[in-house]
Amino acid sequence: MTYKNFPMVPRVMFGRGSFNQINDVLAPKRKNINAPFVFLIDDAFKGNPWLTSRIQLAYDDKIIFIPTKVEPKTEQVDALVEDIIVQSKERPSGVIGIGGGTTLDMAKAVAVMLTNSGEAKDYQGWDLVKNPAIYHIGIPTISGTGAEVSRTTVLTGPEKKLGINSDYTPFDQVILDSELTKDVPKNQWFYTGMDCYIHCVESLTGTYLNEFSKSYGEKAFELCKQIFLDDTLSKTDAQEKLMMASWHGGMSIAYSQVGVAHALSYGLAFLLGVKHGIGNCIVFNHLEEFYPEGVALFKKMKEKHEIELPEGICANLSEDEFNTMIKVALGLEPLWENALGKNWKTIATPEKLRSLYEKM
Ligand code: NAD
Ligand code: ZN
Repeated sequence: MTYKNFPMVPRVMFGRGSFNQINDVLAPKRKNINAPFVFLIDDAFKGNPWLTSRIQLAYDDKIIFIPTKVEPKTEQVDALVEDIIVQSKERPSGVIGIGGGTTLDMAKAVAVMLTNSGEAKDYQGWDLVKNPAIYHIGIPTISGTGAEVSRTTVLTGPEKKLGINSDYTPFDQVILDSELTKDVPKNQWFYTGMDCYIHCVESLTGTYLNEFSKSYGEKAFELCKQIFLDDTLSKTDAQEKLMMASWHGGMSIAYSQVGVAHALSYGLAFLLGVKHGIGNCIVFNHLEEFYPEGVALFKKMKEKHEIELPEGICANLSEDEFNTMIKVALGLEPLWENALGKNWKTIATPEKLRSLYEKM
């Protein structure tokens, strides 16, 4: 057995208002006046001086707002990288991602692709990146995905939705300021928060579980129960706890894997463009047979917060479309093996997946 040797985020700042120190963090990292800082910011903050006015731009530094209606695509990464190269006198000093999972993943991918030739799609997979990335910082403004801590950046390419998993992908610095999450709309708060909850359930019930993953997963699971079921928590406490739950949930899957919900949700995302958080919720709602306790608790949380999930999203799909989704989902072999063990193929048959998708 060979053990994986994972990098972790080397520097973290935590605390409400810590975003105010962004300029101090960046100053020593500026290479010279021709090497700008590029800020990729979630377009939810467009025209929001509360956040942007705290960033001191100098020389050729620039802010680029990232649209979040659709999840990041490899071609979008390539276009951004090209723009940055064309517009900068030198390679940037750093890339700073401020936003949700979409924006954080864009920042990671752009930082990697600025130092590696070719197209982003060529690097979808495991350990294909050859050169260290540009210095990059992640600052989440919504909590749950664990993208701030993970070793991957999930991208949809022409053929697959798959991450660039590499030792160079993780951020060099993360700033966890829960105040930045204060205006997240309730439904989105729930969907992205449930991404974290589902990471925990899939990790803790998986066959890949080990004490490393368990210690992080149990903590995140406990925090999720408080955040989504305890009425006595203050809003501030809940925001801080969700930020740490996201971190621990991400750490938990770093050394194990996700499972059935993520595999099926990737299928929905690939074919129908259903976004990760809501897609996971739609799928998980129908997975009692795989995760009986996890799903029961999920339903309790959903009811408590009066969240309605879309239904019938697969009602009008063609035979070919079902097959595409099933192929994408079944292609994620480690997820199935983690969830169901070595003989997963006897349980997760195309017919089984079809019957699950038909319920959604
Ligand atoms: P998202 O980034 O699309 O954000 C969800 C919505 O919330 C967006 O409309 C965004 O504009 C808005 N938003 C963000 N912060 C806000 C704020 N403070 N106030 C108001 N609105 C705000 O969604 P997400 O759920 O954070 O991330 C999903 C993405 O993350 C997917 O692309 C998924 O593949 C990826 N992901 C990556 C990893 C990883 O390890 N890299 C893990 C899980 C998911
Ligand atoms: Zn997830």
